[in-house]
Amino acid sequence: MKYADLATPRPAACVGIDLAGVAHRETGVAVLRDGRLDLLTTAGDDTEILALAALAGRGGTVAINAPLGLPRGRCCLDDDCPCRHDPGTRSRESERALLRMGVPILATALIKILARRGYRVAAELRRAGCEPLEVYPFATLRLLGLPSAGKRTQLGRRRIHHALQELVPGLDHPNASEHQLDAVVCALTAQLWRQGRARAIGAADEGLVIIPDVAVAAGAADQAPTALRRVAEAGEPYRVDDPAP
Ligand SMILES: [Zn+2]
Repeated sequence: MKYADLATPRPAACVGIDLAGVAHRETGVAVLRDGRLDLLTTAGDDTEILALAALAGRGGTVAINAPLGLPRGRCCLDDDCPCRHDPGTRSRESERALLRMGVPILATALIKILARRGYRVAAELRRAGCEPLEVYPFATLRLLGLPSAGKRTQLGRRRIHHALQELVPGLDHPNASEHQLDAVVCALTAQLWRQGRARAIGAADEGLVIIPDVAVAAGAADQAPTALRRVAEAGEPYRVDDPAP
């Protein structure tokens, strides 16, 4: 990327970050500006990620695929800290709510390397005046009725890419990595949030997770892209308050 671009003021954008647990693994980053994909790239260390997050601009939105909050009662995620009481302090309410909705997700304490990096990046963003959103691209895809399986294979990625093209103008990256595709979905979720078409699940003290609000998408069906309209017409498939299966 050209760092000179960072100095040029541009309208607020949505930046999606599919965060890797460590710097030597690929972090995917996508920037949506005025609803169009403006940049799809890959980042490594925290400095690079924060520079790309700054592309959101003042008033923009940064959405990260990583836990950004601790389970209630935990002061850390260290296995030998007295704050750990298994299994009660492993997961957060947001994760339990997603499981009740039929969306598999790993508990925070089981992905602690990623979670620690999530807290670190989120703290840096807050210092810079940006409150990041926590998102979960797999949940977004599932709730929007889009393909979500097989992203480790080229065929699976192409199916997801093709489905996303209808929702994300400017997406024309058939060789995008799984992390780049997840970053696009993160940015799309941020955009739905800004449009009032997403909702927060979980408990505020543990960090909320933003997911598409399929019921609101139904109300906005006339202006919604076809994929959202299809979801709306089919009715909301899941609700947080559904009893556990
Ligand atoms: Zn602790």
